[in-house]
Amino acid sequence: AAKEAGRDQLVSFDPSLREKRLEAARTTERLRRAIARDELIVHFQPLIRLADERITGVEALIRWQPPGERMVPPDKFIGIAEDSGLIVPIGTWVLRESCRVVAAWHREHGTVVSVNVSPRQLREPDFGATVLDALRDSRLPPTALILEITEGVLVDSGAVTEQAIGHLSLLRSQGVRVAVDDFGTGYSSLAYLRDLPIDHIKIDRSFMPAPGDTDPAARTMVKAIIDLASGLRLGTIAEGVETAEQVALLRELGCERAQGYYYSRPVPSDDATRLILQSAAVTS
Ligand code: C2E
Ligand code: MG
Ligand code: MG
Ligand code: MG
Repeated sequence: AAKEAGRDQLVSFDPSLREKRLEAARTTERLRRAIARDELIVHFQPLIRLADERITGVEALIRWQPPGERMVPPDKFIGIAEDSGLIVPIGTWVLRESCRVVAAWHREHGTVVSVNVSPRQLREPDFGATVLDALRDSRLPPTALILEITEGVLVDSGAVTEQAIGHLSLLRSQGVRVAVDDFGTGYSSLAYLRDLPIDHIKIDRSFMPAPGDTDPAARTMVKAIIDLASGLRLGTIAEGVETAEQVALLRELGCERAQGYYYSRPVPSDDATRLILQSAAVTS
C-alpha cells in the first residue's frame, strides 16, 4: 500500500511521468484497435550463411502501419504491448503470419524463420499449443521454426522460468529450435548455455567492431563468444552486420551466419521473396 501511495504521489507531482502514462494509455487503445484493423505487418530480414553467402532464413520483425501515418517501429510499442498483455494476441498473430508466409519459401528453398517471443507469451499455459497450431495450420515443419528469446526468460529464478523452460523443452522435442537473442547484453551467469534448452546464440550488434576500430579488444570479445558457442555446439549468428570488414572478421573467426544492413534491411514479404529467389539462383 505504501508503494501504491508513493506511486500516486509521483503521478500527481511529476507532470512528465503523468504525461508518459497518458501517452502509454493512448497507445494501448490505438494498438488494441490496430489488431482488429489489420494495421500490423511483418517484415523479414535475411539471415546469411557466411560459408556461401546464401539466405538460409529470415527473422520476422513486426511493424505497425497506422493509416496515413509513419510506420511505427517495435521499440515504440512492444514494451507497451507487454505491459498491457496485448503482446499475447499480437505475438500469436506474428507467429501465425510468419509461418504462413515462410511455408512457401520453405517448400521451394528450405528457408527457415526466426520469430521473437516475449517473456509474457511464455507465461501463457497454452504457449506450446499455440506454436504447434501455427505450424500445423501453415504446414511449416517444426524444424523450420526458430523461437528467439532473451536470456532473462531462462535465468530469472522461480516458477515463471520453470514454465518457460517447460514450454521450450516440449517444443524442442517436436523439432522447433531456440535462439538466445541479444546475447551478451544480459547479466546472467554463463552456466545456462550448457544446461538449458537452446540451439543458437545471436551475438548482439553492440559487439560488432565499429568501422576503423583497431582496438584488439573488440575482436577478442567476438572471438570468445564464437569459441564458447561452438565449443558447446550452439549455432552462431551475428546481428547488426553493416560492413565488409565485419563480415571478413566473422568469417575468419568461424561465425556461421550473419544478419544486418550489409546484406539487407528488414523488408516486406514481396521483397523478401525476390531476395530469396535471387540468392537461390546464384551458382557457386
Ligand atoms: P531484435 O530481435 O534483436 O531484432 C534485430 C533488430 O536490429 C531489428 O530492429 C532490426 O531491424 C535491427 N537491425 C538489423 N540489422 C541491423 C543493422 O545492421 N544495424 C542496425 N543498427 N540495426 C539492425 P527492429 O525491427 O526495430 O526491432 C527491434 C526489436 O523489437 C527486436 O530486436 C525485438 O526485440 C523486438 N521485436 C520486433 N518484432 C517483434 C515481435 O514480433 N515480437 C516481439 N516480442 N518483439 C519483437
Ligand atoms: Mg530477434
Ligand atoms: Mg537481437
Ligand atoms: Mg536486439
